[in-house]
Amino acid sequence: MSTIPVGISSCLLGREVRHDGGHKHSRYCTGVLARYFDFRPVCPELEAGLGVPRPAIHLREYPEGLKLIESNGSADHTTAMQAVIDGVLPELHDLRGYILMAKSPSCGMTRIKVHNPEGQVIHRDGRGLFAAALMARYPLLPVEEEGRLNDDQLRENFIERVFAYDDWMQNVAGDKLTARALIEFHTRHKFQLLAHSERIYRQLGPMLSDLRSEPLSTIADRYIALFMEAMTRQVTRGAHVNAMQHLMGYLRDALGDEERKVLLEQTEAYHRGEVPLIVPMTLLRMAQRREPVDYLHTQKYLSPYPDDLGLRNRV
Ligand code: SF4
Repeated sequence: MSTIPVGISSCLLGREVRHDGGHKHSRYCTGVLARYFDFRPVCPELEAGLGVPRPAIHLREYPEGLKLIESNGSADHTTAMQAVIDGVLPELHDLRGYILMAKSPSCGMTRIKVHNPEGQVIHRDGRGLFAAALMARYPLLPVEEEGRLNDDQLRENFIERVFAYDDWMQNVAGDKLTARALIEFHTRHKFQLLAHSERIYRQLGPMLSDLRSEPLSTIADRYIALFMEAMTRQVTRGAHVNAMQHLMGYLRDALGDEERKVLLEQTEAYHRGEVPLIVPMTLLRMAQRREPVDYLHTQKYLSPYPDDLGLRNRV
């Protein structure tokens, strides 16, 4: 089975690259996600030549911008980090996602402490220098912090985005772009889009209705930016119920009276938070398997990622 290239902070794979010589091994990443993700580890501080062990560093804000300074103020590693950013980021163009280590002035994505030139904390809303550059260069790339993957909703959302973005990169991006490839991508993600953002779903259809008005690559760029924006939004229970009701409409002939009743009961139970999404979704998949509807056959919403990740048991 082919695996999906995903970047990761090296210390999360158990490599002893932290400033104190330790690691931050994530068993979820190496034990579960590694079944599907081909992890590409990067330790920006090691690449910057800071060595292991090394003095702790932090972010300081100067009029000319953020700098990576040793915590005792003795050395400035900003130029070395910028060289890593310039050298490493171009090589990451084929990634479909990135998992970052939290609380690091290099890798942290959110809530990183920022100090003033004297070393006092002025706010805690910073982003590590490498993480900021990564996200600026690849704005479509699904990026998440490892700690946030403990949250069932955030984990499910991140992994769904990685698989969707992989589909785009494999089948539509670059020299694979054709009108047909773009329309087929949109078709198979329609119900996912509807669940994530009905507003964006309603914008994207018309965008594809006239593919001759502008260069196809311009339309594709606009399409995927909005698509990934939609996919970043958490799906509420109500939005899933709405998408499932649309699906049920297509499965009218495959559902007997009793089955329909059970499906509606379980959809309502899901809406009330009494059963997880996997329950009504499995009933829908059973109906589709018994009397396949061509249009639904390609719908990623029914199976956005491998079942054995167990993500829909927990949302
Ligand atoms: S957080 Fe980033 S810079 Fe720090 S040890 Fe891990 S990979 Fe290296």
